[in-house]
Amino acid sequence: MAQARREIQAEQEQRILSIAAIIETEMDLGWLDIVHKFDPRSGDERVICETHPDWEYRQASLLWNIECCAARTDEELTDTMIHELVHVLIDPLWSVACKVKGARRLNEFSVECVARAISAVRRNA
Ligand SMILES: [Zn+2]
Repeated sequence: MAQARREIQAEQEQRILSIAAIIETEMDLGWLDIVHKFDPRSGDERVICETHPDWEYRQASLLWNIECCAARTDEELTDTMIHELVHVLIDPLWSVACKVKGARRLNEFSVECVARAISAVRRNA
């Protein structure tokens, strides 16, 4: 049972890393140090990924919820990847805007709008 679980985790990690390699290349993000980490525990099923950017050092770590990812299609994971990477790109703005009351929802909406536009361009290319 534990072996099967490890295999599923390894499979999902490889799947996420493959999608990351494609999207990070397409978005030309080689100038950022992006690390993908994996959480095998089942946590909040609504949280596919937690992104921790550090814009001053051009770094970010993305913590993927493995169980949550396993239930998603490649297209859904790709859209999530793009969304999280937009969070990374606008982190300098967020570091200031986060001090404004109500800015969290506005930030999330803005990130999703940009992410959807990027996804639409990819699909129509
Ligand atoms: Zn978000």
